[in-house]
Amino acid sequence: MQVYISTDMEGTAGVTGWVMTHPGEHDYELSRRLMAAEVNAAIEGAFQGGATTVVVNDSHDGMRNLPLDQIDPRALVLSGSPKPGSMVEGLTEDFDLMFCTGYHAMAGSPSTLAHTYNLTVQEAQISGRRVGELGLNAYWAATFGVPVALVTGDDVLEAETRDLLPWARYAQVKEARGRYASLSRGAEAARAAIRQAAERAVREHATMKPLQPPENPEVKVRFTNPGQAQSAAICPGAERLDALTVRFVHSDYRQVYRAFRTLVTLASGQN
Ligand SMILES: [Zn+2]
Repeated sequence: MQVYISTDMEGTAGVTGWVMTHPGEHDYELSRRLMAAEVNAAIEGAFQGGATTVVVNDSHDGMRNLPLDQIDPRALVLSGSPKPGSMVEGLTEDFDLMFCTGYHAMAGSPSTLAHTYNLTVQEAQISGRRVGELGLNAYWAATFGVPVALVTGDDVLEAETRDLLPWARYAQVKEARGRYASLSRGAEAARAAIRQAAERAVREHATMKPLQPPENPEVKVRFTNPGQAQSAAICPGAERLDALTVRFVHSDYRQVYRAFRTLVTLASGQN
C-alpha cells in the first residue's frame, strides 16, 4: 500500500496570511512547523491504516518548506522546485492513494488564502468544471488511476471536496472567517483529526475512486487583467477567447495540466 501526499501550507490550522506563508517573512517559521506537524499526522495515520510506503511532495511556494529533520523518518520527502509535475511530481500508477494536506479552496471562493496556483488566476475550468488546485491535481492523479482518499483544510475546501470527491475522507482543521482570518482547531486537535482521517482513508481504500479523466480535456483560465491573458496566449497551442480568457485543448490531460502551469507562469509578473 503506497501513499502519495501532496502538501500545501495555506490550509494548515493557524495559517491566516501571506506573511505567514512566504519564506523569510513574519511567522513563516511557525507556519512551516505547523505544516510539518500536520504532515506527520497524515503519515502516522497512513502507516496505522496499513501503508507500507509514504512519499510526501512539498507543494507550497518554492517547495522547500518541510524541515527534513522534523518529518517522520518512515516517509520519503520530495522537495525543491521547479519540478515538472509541480504539486503532483512523482505521482505514478505505482501509488494506491493520494492525500492532499494543507490545501485551500479555489480562487474566488471565501476560503482563507484562496487562490489557484498564483494570484493572476480569477477562475480556472477543466472541460467546463470550475476547479482549484485540488481539482487540477485530482485529475492528474486520475490519469494514473489513483484516487484522492484524504483532503485537509478549511470548511470551504470541505464543500469543494464533497462536490468533486464525495468518497474522500476530510479533516477540517479550521473554519474560514475571511480571506485573512480563520477559526482554527488547536494544533493538537487538528493533528488528531488528520491522523484519524488518514488511518480510515487507508483502511477504507477499497471505497475510494479515481476521478474520471475528461474525454477531451480543455483548460480555460480567466485572468485578472488583459496583460496577463495576452502574455499567457504566447504558449504554443493556446487560444485567446476574450480580453481575460485563454484556452488550451489537448487529448492528453497531462499536457493540459502542463499548459495550465505554462499559462500562469507566463501571466505572472504582468500586473
Ligand atoms: Zn501554497
